[in-house]
Amino acid sequence: MSAPKPCLADLALINGKIITVDEKFSFAEAVSVKNGRIHAVGTTEEVMKLTGPETKIVDLKGRTVMPGLYDSHLHVVGTGSAIQIINCRTPPMMSIEDLKNAVAEKVKEVKPGEWILGRGWDQVKLAEQRNPSRYDFDEVSPDNPVVLTRTCGHLIVANSKALEIGGVSKDTPQPLGGVIVKDENGEPTGMLEEGPAMNLVRNQIPQEGVEDYMGQIKTACEAFNAVGITSVIDAGNTSDHMAAYQRLKENGELTVRTNMMLAAIQKSEPIEDSVKRINEFPMLSGYGDELLKFQGLKILIDGGVGGRTALLREHYENDPEDYGVLTVPVENLQKLVDAGNMRGMLCGIHCAGGAAMDIVIDAFKKTNKVKPIKGRRFYLIHAYQPTEQNFKDCRDMGIMVASQPSFLYYLGDSYYGNVGPERSKWLKPHRAWLDEGIMCAAGTDSPVTPYPPFVSLWTSIARRTEINDTQMGTEQKVTRKEAIKMYTLNGAYLTFEEDIKGSIEPGKLADMIIIDRDVMTCPEDDVKDTKVLTTYLGGKVVFEA
Ligand SMILES: [Zn+2]
Repeated sequence: MSAPKPCLADLALINGKIITVDEKFSFAEAVSVKNGRIHAVGTTEEVMKLTGPETKIVDLKGRTVMPGLYDSHLHVVGTGSAIQIINCRTPPMMSIEDLKNAVAEKVKEVKPGEWILGRGWDQVKLAEQRNPSRYDFDEVSPDNPVVLTRTCGHLIVANSKALEIGGVSKDTPQPLGGVIVKDENGEPTGMLEEGPAMNLVRNQIPQEGVEDYMGQIKTACEAFNAVGITSVIDAGNTSDHMAAYQRLKENGELTVRTNMMLAAIQKSEPIEDSVKRINEFPMLSGYGDELLKFQGLKILIDGGVGGRTALLREHYENDPEDYGVLTVPVENLQKLVDAGNMRGMLCGIHCAGGAAMDIVIDAFKKTNKVKPIKGRRFYLIHAYQPTEQNFKDCRDMGIMVASQPSFLYYLGDSYYGNVGPERSKWLKPHRAWLDEGIMCAAGTDSPVTPYPPFVSLWTSIARRTEINDTQMGTEQKVTRKEAIKMYTLNGAYLTFEEDIKGSIEPGKLADMIIIDRDVMTCPEDDVKDTKVLTTYLGGKVVFEA
């Protein structure tokens, strides 16, 4: 048999509905792939003409296909690590008994002596209505140290093995600023409160290295592929994270196209060290290829509205003193932005509160005078409560926004109490960004909120909260088309990749997903529950349900 003609497709998806996300947002019936790229888009008849005996043909039977999804701001290592450790939240853990069983399961998987970690328990939600103790886990894990962190992060429970390794006993004096909880006989119960006490044990947990990061990234990639994510911007990497990425890529195990960002400030180092790192960093924005690229510099200058740490222009509800926190002094921010700009890196800056956004935009204006940033796609991460002036400045300097609709769903209930109903309307103001002509891409900031994209995508349409089902800022709703663009093409735009991905058009990378419903026409609430059946990365199946 002769070799297939060069114009014939490797793969053809036919008899479906292809949401192309092209200029006209048009729909097609079929799509073909050749050498990892989209080959043709059209009717089934047209596409079938380009197939041969070697072409793999998939009959979609009416199913919907859309471009692979792009999460424009998350933390990959953090997500992988959160998946690997025990999820102690309620649900799924309904009781201390459940936690014990989960630890027992882990003991079977890990090596003798290896640490078993978990996070998320809240005694109020557990059937026993009490804190877990060392003894609960000694039974199932006598030889492996166990540390389970409470949902708040300020409290841990350690088993006897972990206490022993940490040198915590009846005789250990109470550390300054922390509490070793002890029973009536003076024996530690396993509960350690606040850093100084928790660190007695936590500092004994082996430091993570490149190998660990590789495992976490791989875990995250598999999870992302299973929900239709084919591209991400990974915010805040160290050079060890980047080394892990490169090794995975070499092994052929990187299945999510990644744009890495360098963490500007690492640990609590002096500003000179951060600037030095930027000045000496070997990669400039855009370095890399279609699978792994360096995007730029990630800086963070405030917190979030949920924890009342986002820096606001007006004080938080019920506390005239509280405006949030600025985590980096203004002059240091300028040093970082200038260093990145001069070096040839674009900057993406976490600024949740309005006052933080004003500070960042001001820093952009100043650096713009030193070296123009227009066209270099600097961007704001989170960015609530933009003013008319902010819009204008963003347009003038070509500043874009990475926003996370999922925050409204998962965290929105806490926002109401913290900033009140009026200001809540301007959290994640997607309608305004788009109407003002400012590029806005979507994501989840995982593990801050869960990474499954259809919940986040739906939230940008519905703007409802998880617990109280409160509608938040309905004026800021976007249409389904816009929501899909924010999760595909706009993300690609943020990383200068709009010509190679984000839509299903000939010549672009064949990153596509087959989904179980038509997200354009199904009832609005059903969009949230969309399941991914197959994920293609460059025409190769990386997930199949
Ligand atoms: Zn983040």
